[in-house]
Amino acid sequence: MTTKRAQKKSSPAVTSITQKTRLSGAEAPRFEYAPSVQSSDFVQIEKRNGLFIGGKFVEPKSGRYFATINPATGEKLAEISEASADDVDLAVKTARKAYVNVWSKISAKERGRYLFRIARLIQERSRELAVLETIDNGKPIRESRDVDVPLVAAHFFYHAGWADKLHYAFPGQTIAPLGVVGQVIPWNFPLLMAAWKIAPALACGNTVVLKPAETTSLSVLRLAQIFQEAGLPDGVVNLVTGAGATGSALVGHSDINKVAFTGSTEVGKIIARAVAGTNKRLTLELGGKSAHIIFEDAALDQALEGVINGIYFNQGHVCCAGSRLLLEESIAKDFIDKLKRRLTKLRVGNPLDKNTDIGAINSEGELKKIKKLIQLGCDEGGELYEPKTCKIPEKGYFQRPCFFSNVSSSFTLSRVEIFGPVLTISTFRTPQEAVLKANDTPYGLAAGVWSEKGAKIHKVAGALKAGVVWANTYNKFDPSAPFGGYNESGWGREGGRHGLMAYLDVK
Ligand code: NAP
Ligand code: MG
Repeated sequence: MTTKRAQKKSSPAVTSITQKTRLSGAEAPRFEYAPSVQSSDFVQIEKRNGLFIGGKFVEPKSGRYFATINPATGEKLAEISEASADDVDLAVKTARKAYVNVWSKISAKERGRYLFRIARLIQERSRELAVLETIDNGKPIRESRDVDVPLVAAHFFYHAGWADKLHYAFPGQTIAPLGVVGQVIPWNFPLLMAAWKIAPALACGNTVVLKPAETTSLSVLRLAQIFQEAGLPDGVVNLVTGAGATGSALVGHSDINKVAFTGSTEVGKIIARAVAGTNKRLTLELGGKSAHIIFEDAALDQALEGVINGIYFNQGHVCCAGSRLLLEESIAKDFIDKLKRRLTKLRVGNPLDKNTDIGAINSEGELKKIKKLIQLGCDEGGELYEPKTCKIPEKGYFQRPCFFSNVSSSFTLSRVEIFGPVLTISTFRTPQEAVLKANDTPYGLAAGVWSEKGAKIHKVAGALKAGVVWANTYNKFDPSAPFGGYNESGWGREGGRHGLMAYLDVK
């Protein structure tokens, strides 16, 4: 043994690695993992995809189709139907029929059974769903496999449990379903947002017409196959694919009882105006510019991972991304150095590679928006750090992780949602100043507080105007925890008992 060790010690190869690893920051060499690419050939993608109306895939009356692409390669994956106002009308009529004739007649226990069946089938087909989500959306397989799809199943399980216990959620009150609900969702969590919308609506006894985002219809259409397999009665869930005009036709349809929207604040405002003066109920889950506050007494290495998880994983395509970092002044320099070192280690690239930390930006348009805002940050005098060692693929839509330091609240970057892997950093001296800066935004979706002092966390969390405040962690979701925003981040809550209220008439 002794001889072997002595031999190893004198081996020149080992010595050079040891020396290299002592180098810090951007100088440190990158040791690449061998690629570990998730196979995708077992996932069949139809060349042309119909609308899902009345339990069947049907051709659009419009006769129009558009392409959905793989953002990691820029290649076309399939054609998706563009639903016209006539198609939307058919879907709403079908959902109404299913509501009147079937879904409002069956027992709550039976509704719960369908939801359980759907949840189990999602688990059985979890790898297929994760791969499809990654191919169409660009998010790393690690995220779709370990976060998105398990949460999708969890959402159906959770609401399956509620279906026949709704009276316990609202004791002493009378409850009734609303009827037909129209739901419009974004591209950043296509399957998960569909689950957040469909599961509570069905558990509460409503039928659904849902429109996924233009760039990410495939995984939601796969969910339709699961509904068929689960034997969900025809017309209880209908899917109309298309762009903004399809969403607008759905929201404006006169025979829906409720609109549930997740997306940008800009479109949320248009929808609020369209629904004003009607009898339709409305919930809006909109954008964010969430603050991550780190005090000097926090466990800094854990906080660093929280920051990385909060803004860089999933390419910053998270409504509640911790996109504004507020550091206590005493630790700012050291923390920024740590952050720089950590950024040099992040791997950007093939979303199907299990080692990838940051996948592809969902579309060319989104990438252009991000690049424009980064340029604006530079023009306004922000100090940009982008790890030069971080390689990005030549094809597809990719953005290196980066941050701006010395950014004041007046910078455009501090105020607008970037929706990419771009962080802004500023400092504070007192908890009061941290709260003031964190609340200085038109949004109010989420926040993170890092400190070892429980009392400090409670005090600060209580003063933050954000729908969700995480303490010593970030981006943790559970179907039982209500989620939603303040101010321009939205109205109403999704998840938990609060989320049920949005799909019931409670008297
Ligand atoms: P978006 O542009 O607002 O689009 C959202 C959905 O609305 C899409 O399906 C879109 O269709 C549709 N739409 C567009 N114009 C419409 C109109 N006039 N009437 C009805 N529907 C219309 O948002 P996005 O870019 O897809 O998603 C990113 C945004 O979603 C970010 O702001 C993010 O913060 C927010 N988000 C919020 C939450 C939350 O829980 N608070 C969760 C996830 C995402 P097209 O796809 O064809 O445009
Ligand atoms: Mg796509």
